[in-house]
Amino acid sequence: MPALALAPRSLPRAADEAERFVCGAMLVNRACGAMLGLAIGDALGATVEFMTAREIAARYGSHDRIRGGGWLRLPPGQVTDDTTMSFALAEACLDAGGVPTAAACADAFDAWMRAKPVDIGNTVRRGIVRWRLHGSVAAEPSNDAGNGATMRCLPVALATFGAEPHTVRDATLAQARVTHHNPLTDAATLCVVDMVQVALAGGGIGAVLARAHALVAAQPRFAFRGRRCENPSGFIVDTMRAVLQAIDGNDGFAAVLVDVVNRGGDADTTGAIAGMIMGALVGETGLPPDWRRQVAVQVRRDCVRLATGLIELAPGYAAG
Ligand code: MN
Ligand code: MN
Repeated sequence: MPALALAPRSLPRAADEAERFVCGAMLVNRACGAMLGLAIGDALGATVEFMTAREIAARYGSHDRIRGGGWLRLPPGQVTDDTTMSFALAEACLDAGGVPTAAACADAFDAWMRAKPVDIGNTVRRGIVRWRLHGSVAAEPSNDAGNGATMRCLPVALATFGAEPHTVRDATLAQARVTHHNPLTDAATLCVVDMVQVALAGGGIGAVLARAHALVAAQPRFAFRGRRCENPSGFIVDTMRAVLQAIDGNDGFAAVLVDVVNRGGDADTTGAIAGMIMGALVGETGLPPDWRRQVAVQVRRDCVRLATGLIELAPGYAAG
């Protein structure tokens, strides 16, 4: 009776269905953890942005609460350009059903700037103005290796999870080059996308750090083992060295974030980048509940909505 013998194979087994559901749920958990982690790091770090480590210690001892203030005089739980530019790129990915064109990214950033963000980097502003004036989707190669393309890369990491490497690379660089065109910025942005995707796949901290060491092998200026990087500037090498030292030297989301923002300097951006990587590792359910609650409620809702929408678009989600 061949028909009967084939039946079990033609119907999905309950165990397979359950496994697919658990994989999907774990991916959504990690994707939401990454987006919420980005917002938490931004909100936590914004209070001490442009302060020195010494000034932070004198004022707060250890700055470990989301309390608002800072040079932007933010309400507690509010976020800055690191998160809101990521939201703009995330919406562009959702509109595109995956990977937006460079022009769609530029349009999204343009609309974001028109909405008068609380802060904006010089290189980002220059890039958006160039798009407005000339309609060119990529900046000319330059020595300007700012961190603005890296801080907003998370939506691409989520939407292209499980895609072909060249697709991930092209999408990462297309969004980056709207404003930044520099080999160091390119390398760091590709590395952060890679680290997030490794964490989404369940690779754990060892796999994430292996990516950091690969970055250093390719671009030795990112070497992070050694002298402690304090008061990191908006130069991507400083930013990444502070982030990688904090991830390398601490255990868990909270310890990494407290370490990196208390170094001062561009603390909302180091917090945002460390937050997205660590958040992808621990997942939404692994985030410190107090910090999660302290993020403004509308920001939290957007994080969950966008991260869920993006990961559901990813080839790696459908394949799970
Ligand atoms: Mn910012
Ligand atoms: Mn910043």
